[in-house]
Amino acid sequence: MPINTRTNILATLGPASDTEEKISALIDAGVDGFRLNFSHGTHESHQKTYDIIRKVSNKKNAHIAVVADMQGPKLRIGNFKNEKETLKKGQKFTFDMKDELGDATRVTLPHKEIFEALKAGDTLLVNDGNIILKVLKCDKKSAVTEVVVGGVISGHKGVNLPNSSLNISPLTPKDLDDLKFALKLGVDCVCLSFVQRAKDIKDARKIIKDKAWIIAKLEKPQVMDELDEIIQASDMIMVARGDLGVECPIVTVPVLQKKIVARCRACGKPVIVATQMLESMISAPIPTRAEVSDVANAVYDGCDVVMLSGETAMGNYPVETVNTMRGVIEQVESDTKYFENLQSAFSGVSCYSESRAITHAANDVVKTLDNVACIATFSVSGRTTLAMAHERPAYPIMSISPDEKIARQLNLVWGVRSFIDKKFLGNFDNIETVSKGFARISGLAKEGQFVVITAGYPFGKVGLTNVLHIVRI
Ligand code: PEP
Repeated sequence: MPINTRTNILATLGPASDTEEKISALIDAGVDGFRLNFSHGTHESHQKTYDIIRKVSNKKNAHIAVVADMQGPKLRIGNFKNEKETLKKGQKFTFDMKDELGDATRVTLPHKEIFEALKAGDTLLVNDGNIILKVLKCDKKSAVTEVVVGGVISGHKGVNLPNSSLNISPLTPKDLDDLKFALKLGVDCVCLSFVQRAKDIKDARKIIKDKAWIIAKLEKPQVMDELDEIIQASDMIMVARGDLGVECPIVTVPVLQKKIVARCRACGKPVIVATQMLESMISAPIPTRAEVSDVANAVYDGCDVVMLSGETAMGNYPVETVNTMRGVIEQVESDTKYFENLQSAFSGVSCYSESRAITHAANDVVKTLDNVACIATFSVSGRTTLAMAHERPAYPIMSISPDEKIARQLNLVWGVRSFIDKKFLGNFDNIETVSKGFARISGLAKEGQFVVITAGYPFGKVGLTNVLHIVRI
């Protein structure tokens, strides 16, 4: 049975879920896209998983998106002579560039960019923020710190620098290699980790071009200084709450999440809320009340996608987790307040472009006309559909595009059901028969109902929506 929820589910694949049987069950449960996490696995394992996703989704005629998540510049310390050491509050501890195993007084931090950026008074976090150190003095090759919160430190642990802006690209040599591979594979979207500024996305775009959507993972506090520029430069945004909760005080994460989602909504940019949404379902078949509320909160805010990480990648209940997430989405979306709140964001908006004016008018038409079934958007680049989704209309949006990749990318956008058709390109009159056909086949419309159409004509002229049309089935 087709799933008619507007908010989409992105599920990370891993050892708990990367088989044909599980991928098929996850799609049936409501997954709209899969995330391949390049922090784990090999090119060989990602190739295998990718092939299974395409095989299963082709069989189901489902336009499932594949997202390749680059590891990014995850900074790590070196190893220790003893396996681990215990750091005590108040003691001094040094990070340096020496090629030697660490001990109770020092460890290697093989990233010169860190020492170039650090200043006395800065904070340095180790092991997901569990150990906190304050920099006392620093030169180009070392930093002497004082332990503020101690704990056990062991080799290869991650380091975060919440106050420092580093002169590093979000694409490391490993990422460039992974990126080349992922683009060759044909993934639909690429996640850039630890983005710091809009320039990071513009630089990545020179390599990625239009081969995939760029999803900027927002997980560093300095992104808030350039938020609008980063949103404009990206195709999609992810609120990556895992590292965000390490780089920023954890209590600030909900406020940052709300601010980022609200700005994306205002700019009409698709946004994903990610990490620990149903974390306890890694080991239990039922989530906590707080987790259910967390998913509902993100859905009420109008995000396009809610994401699952460890829950589906390595948990004991991947399919049950997706069923639970879909259940929460269904409940929120059937609350009349949900659409009322989303729509109220548009009252009093002015200065529309030609495209947004037509799209906004289409949303007024569906509100005015009795017996509307759905909206059909004809889009070669995807922009006509994105503009419609920006309006958060109360009726499903059909995206009709000639391009398979665009169809899969749009499958992650709020309210969109993707269809592929090339016929409409030949003759304007075809938009009537094509939209009626898809509306009927998909079960979105019945005899006598209206389909409201938006399109850009001449077809193929990117970024122009200038057609508003109504057909009756
Ligand atoms: C996150 O930090 O929330 C995130 C999604 O990234 P990763 O899973 O790579 O840590």
